[in-house]
Amino acid sequence: MPAVWLDGKACAADLEENLKQRISICKTQPHLAVIIVGDDPASLVYVRNKILCCERLGIKSTQFKLPTETKQTELEDILKGLNEDATLHGILIQSPLPSHLDEGSLTDMIEPTKDVDGFHPVNLGKIVQGRLNGMIPCTPAGVMEMLRWSGVDLAGKKAVVIGRSFNVGMPQALLLAAKGIDSTVTIVHSKTPQPILECLSADILIAAAGRPEMVTKDWVKPGAVVIDVGINRVSDTTRERGWRLAGDVHPNVSEVASIMSPVPGGVGPMTVAMLMANTVTSAESQHY
Ligand code: NAD
Repeated sequence: MPAVWLDGKACAADLEENLKQRISICKTQPHLAVIIVGDDPASLVYVRNKILCCERLGIKSTQFKLPTETKQTELEDILKGLNEDATLHGILIQSPLPSHLDEGSLTDMIEPTKDVDGFHPVNLGKIVQGRLNGMIPCTPAGVMEMLRWSGVDLAGKKAVVIGRSFNVGMPQALLLAAKGIDSTVTIVHSKTPQPILECLSADILIAAAGRPEMVTKDWVKPGAVVIDVGINRVSDTTRERGWRLAGDVHPNVSEVASIMSPVPGGVGPMTVAMLMANTVTSAESQHY
């Protein structure tokens, strides 16, 4: 039987309804600042989607669109101001920044309670401690919400996460292994000797390597739940624009998986929805 598609758009829509309720009783209007430097076309689309989602939910957004040649010190000054602005609840720096800028040190400057991306060391460290009420990185948080929403049982299951980045793979592995979730987790990365063998042992397989359609059906145990985090542009001359979006998971995995998330329309919408959730949480915690 082919896999059931896990509809990230529907899951995000449910979450948005819940957020609207929370916003309606929040003592202040949640307010998100989005900083984008340069003209990377994909980043412009991501920022636009985030701002549109803010508008849908009634979250105020302020965009700082800065030229590519913006200096590190200029960004630092902007961040200082935003950290001190009591009317602002979330600060997001759209990644990637131009190469002359030090993204890590800028992230470190963000006040952790306003770090709605969840990339500040304080927020990542809280996950290690099992304190899951802080700012959790939006993509792995979105994956967890999709799994909960679709009723996937995680306790005692073997989960394999492909990728160990600080923003996706590593926090994803920690969240799956957290007390109360209770999966047994393996991380597969670029130096893992036998990745296919590891993946074949997974009840839950999360692919976040950024390698188009790397996971094919011979990597997947029949009946496994497969979540595709990857978003890759691959050339496609049959399309007018010359490219299409591909995940890290090959479409033929749907022949063996029980549940599978699509790309696009899977984890992507959930990432944006979790950003909104973090912004609302920040507004609630500062004003209750
Ligand atoms: P990254 O490049 O920072 O990390 C990739 C990780 O994959 C690394 O840890 C690396 O060790 C591992 N890896 C690379 N090649 C591998 C291989 N052949 N076998 C096993 N592991 C390998 O990327 P990232 O930021 O973690 O993003 C991963 C993917 O997820 C990308 O396609 C990115 O576009 C996508 N992404 C999607 C969303 C979303 O909202 N859906 C959000 C963030 C990232």
